[in-house]
Amino acid sequence: MKLLYVWLLTCCVYCNQINVYVCDSKNAKRYHYNPNCRGLSNCKHEIISIPLEKAMATRTHCKWEE
Ligand SMILES: [Zn+2]
Repeated sequence: MKLLYVWLLTCCVYCNQINVYVCDSKNAKRYHYNPNCRGLSNCKHEIISIPLEKAMATRTHCKWEE
């Protein structure tokens, strides 16, 4: 429920421009709706926010959030 809430909140704030969070590393292959996701806890680089469209082009959705 918490993830859904975050997703809805993000959706409302950005309307048409949904942003997701990614680890700014060459090896990172996932994107996350939740910046506090456990999948990002291993990130040794910076966590950045990018548009969902851009993220989907190079990454797949986080397995923890499916
Ligand atoms: Zn995640």
